[in-house]
Amino acid sequence: MIVLFWQFCGCIAGIMLSVVKKKNGLKLECSEQGVSVRLDGLGYWCSYRNGDAFYRRCIDGCVVRGHETPAVLSPDQADRLTSAVLSLLMSTVESMSSKVGGESAIDQQAFELLLCASRLHLKDYCERSCLGGAAYPEPVPILPPDRYGDIVIQPATGCPNSQCSFCAFYQGKRFQVLSGESLKQHVSQVKALLGSGWGGRDGVFLGSANALALSTRRLLSVLQLVCDEVGVIRRGVAAFGDADYAPVRQAGDWVSLAEHGLRQVVFGLETGDGVLREQLGKSRDLLPTRRMIEELKMAGIRIGVTILAGVGQNSHVEKTLLYVKHLPLEAKDIIYLSPLEGEGVHVSALIANQYDELLFGLRSITDAQVVPYQMKRFFYYA
Ligand code: SF4
Repeated sequence: MIVLFWQFCGCIAGIMLSVVKKKNGLKLECSEQGVSVRLDGLGYWCSYRNGDAFYRRCIDGCVVRGHETPAVLSPDQADRLTSAVLSLLMSTVESMSSKVGGESAIDQQAFELLLCASRLHLKDYCERSCLGGAAYPEPVPILPPDRYGDIVIQPATGCPNSQCSFCAFYQGKRFQVLSGESLKQHVSQVKALLGSGWGGRDGVFLGSANALALSTRRLLSVLQLVCDEVGVIRRGVAAFGDADYAPVRQAGDWVSLAEHGLRQVVFGLETGDGVLREQLGKSRDLLPTRRMIEELKMAGIRIGVTILAGVGQNSHVEKTLLYVKHLPLEAKDIIYLSPLEGEGVHVSALIANQYDELLFGLRSITDAQVVPYQMKRFFYYA
């Protein structure tokens, strides 16, 4: 434990920070004062708490305050916050260095990382933001909640459908497959951005809106590249899929994809009501989706299904429950229940009622986990 004095927002507080080594980086904490800073393996701060205020840095350099209703700080505010965190780190190192045996309170490797973190400047953070922008020319707009911490690799950008009326991310964004060379360059940029050990992340998500639209041959080569570059990764590889925009695949193709690391596919079902689904911009025919889910399950690949709350009438709830009831879902599969929230619109009573009906109904007819999916809360954090 070390003692330091830190000035922020005009008040001086005596703060005792403990430095704890983490799987990837360090955590500096004073639980009494409610102050903590999490550093990544390269020494950049990735989260910072000061009392009730909690901040996280995103891959693209923006800084977000709060969790329930996250707000993006202006560039000036973000710079001021980063400067404050840097001052805190510098004070920590100075305090440790001035105390006899202070550095030895933590191991040499941890102290060197702390030292390196304290020597970073705003321009280093700015360069990291540029690296993030270069690695992801199409920002990562959304991931399933259980995959928020994945390494995102984008063998394609955009969406082959891109017509859905409710879609906040891909409307009108043309689907484009990266060439082999561009993909290799993208992967090495992501690697440089996340640092050694890929930032301790334990899964890979193939972006963007529908990586399963790639030909099987191309998808296998992408999975092989992931395996060569990332190695065996605990949570395997996941991707969004859409049965209406995918090449025809035989059972053997799914088995090959599973053997090459594909572990989970997430479908945007939205509703089991075909008429409503068509109104939303997707196919009315729900049979191809059911067939693809069955084929994936046969190959041992886990399923995710997103369902919207706050669309259509009662038939949405009834038909969705009926459709899901006949899907071969197990406890390891996930249904993501997503209240449809427009820009700045709060969940209305109508949406909340439908959400509750779906939540209760789904939990009683399927073994799959049913979890909330608050799309507006997604940020691809550093
Ligand atoms: S298919 Fe999915 S990603 Fe594409 S436009 Fe529709 S909701 Fe958006």
